Amino acid sequence: MPKKMVKKNTKEKNKIDEVVKSNKNRSSKFQLVRGTKDILPSRQKYFLWLYDEVKRIASSYSFDKIETPILEHTNLFVRGVGKQTDIVEKEMFSFVDQGGDNLTLRPEGTAAVARAYIEHGMLSWPQPVKLWYWGKMLRHERPQAGRLREFHQYGFEILGSSDAMVDAQIIFITYKILSGLGLNVIIAINSIGTVECRHQYKKVLVDYFRTKRSVLSDVAKKQLTKNPLRILDSKDPGLQSVIEQAPQIFDYLSQESKDHFMKVLDYLDELDVPIIMKPNLVRGLDYYNYTVFEVWNNEEESSKAAALGGGGRYDGLVELLGGRPTPAAGVALGIERIVAKLKQAEIAPPTEDSPDIFVAQLGEEAKRKSLLLFEELRLAGVKVSESLSKEGLKSQLEIANKLKVKYAIILGQKEILDGTVMLRDMENGIQEIVDIKKITNEVKKRLDKRLKIKK
Ligand code: AMP
Repeated sequence: MPKKMVKKNTKEKNKIDEVVKSNKNRSSKFQLVRGTKDILPSRQKYFLWLYDEVKRIASSYSFDKIETPILEHTNLFVRGVGKQTDIVEKEMFSFVDQGGDNLTLRPEGTAAVARAYIEHGMLSWPQPVKLWYWGKMLRHERPQAGRLREFHQYGFEILGSSDAMVDAQIIFITYKILSGLGLNVIIAINSIGTVECRHQYKKVLVDYFRTKRSVLSDVAKKQLTKNPLRILDSKDPGLQSVIEQAPQIFDYLSQESKDHFMKVLDYLDELDVPIIMKPNLVRGLDYYNYTVFEVWNNEEESSKAAALGGGGRYDGLVELLGGRPTPAAGVALGIERIVAKLKQAEIAPPTEDSPDIFVAQLGEEAKRKSLLLFEELRLAGVKVSESLSKEGLKSQLEIANKLKVKYAIILGQKEILDGTVMLRDMENGIQEIVDIKKITNEVKKRLDKRLKIKK
């Protein structure tokens, strides 16, 4: 092992020793790390429902799924997201690993997708390449309502086309998924033009904010020299009227930028996507150009509630990361925020169909047989349930009742010896003895008959 590594490993070990020592006298009651959450079954239902909807729409619009690692080289985000962004300046979970590599737990998805596009030579695939992702993101933010340190995002990226239709399609599917779930959303949209347009605009903006220096906060003053566009992003109530009166980027857009924006707006109009123009919307990340947008809950839009998602065009990113110039556009959506909005709007995931059959058992031998019968029924396409950990028949039938099954199949010691089962109609309590070899067919026949009568 190289000397440097030995030294490093010893250092790591010392750190762990410290943790062990400090824990010795404490009771070992562990809690979640601040800003993280367990997703318990009741909330998981919403996550799964959203996942299914995203997957369904993604595949009908020909997006392929991509998964990138949770670990990336820190430089990917420093370069791809931008040194002067909040994410890179303050929020990354970065560390040096045992081998001396500078790594970061990914704070967002787009830079990694662009890295993968370059690394796997996707430029030689038929263009544009349409990808979607779903996964955990980590940012060391101050935890508060709607802001976690570990959260989930899904996103869509289209790489390899500068067509305004691409921007519109990204926005359209974003809208389609959320409105399809029953949410009332609106797209706040703006264009920030090209790097050159922004260069000129920044100068005008700095001149303007200099005249308002007395009302600027310390943070804003710092941003004025580093990245004045970010002042426009500020949620500071004391700054809002100054921001509202600031020069608007639209007046500094090149003709090309304006034409692109007009086309995007035209397509969105055609697709009936509700939009609101936001001249001050610039987004926090450096890699955007032309279209930028955020997704808002319509009712709360005016109160500047936290956005559900955001995205835009990022024509410079692939080149910035060392690839060939590749125009691209994308969006990322916050899954926890969407789930919170669904709950708030009392929109619940569709309930799963309740089972038709319950398998109850009495005694060790019957339990073993019921496992096989359960599997036989399941493979035959019957919706079946059980409670194998319960012993008494009464408690099992109570569960069957709660599940509102149509029939319970009871296997007892006697039935096992006879090679039969008891079939109980849960509505009228009538019980019949049926040959165990015929029970699956019998149950299917009865369920089909009930279905026909219902129709
Ligand atoms: P961003 O890339 O920062 O615009 O994030 C896109 C979306 O991800 C946001 O609109 C939020 O819905 C969600 N998001 C971002 N940061 C967090 C966070 N710390 N906790 C929960 N959701 C977040």
